[in-house]
Amino acid sequence: MIALVKIKEAQRLLAEGKLSHRKIAQATGISRATVGAIASGRRPDYEARQRARASANEPLGPLGRCPGCGGLVYMPCRLCGARKAKEHEQEVARAHRRRARELAAKRLLSAVRRASREREAAVARSQRYLPPAELDGGAPDCK
Ligand SMILES: [Zn+2]
Repeated sequence: MIALVKIKEAQRLLAEGKLSHRKIAQATGISRATVGAIASGRRPDYEARQRARASANEPLGPLGRCPGCGGLVYMPCRLCGARKAKEHEQEVARAHRRRARELAAKRLLSAVRRASREREAAVARSQRYLPPAELDGGAPDCK
């Protein structure tokens, strides 16, 4: 996170139009890419997002007994919200691991089948090229 004062300073210097992006980057300690993004208006307003997040964390409702955890909290209960979010994250991660396991098992199975087919084909080839005497049960002098 870049300090807001640095952003403001870069915006002021850009508005002055006297310095290059490189000079502004050096003067403020912000990267040239970021200075360029500020100049073109491409830089997301992180500060506004942070303010929005901070205000989202302020107590909203009245003080009350949470039906989820039983705590005396400002509703909605943030603890239960965090637990729910964490459970959701874990469920997503579990589903991801499950899919990865299934994919690995499918790949292993198809590799085993392929190897088995190749082995059978190799055996068939080797039998095809056996001399007729050996296919008959050995040379006559072995009997
Ligand atoms: Zn709760």
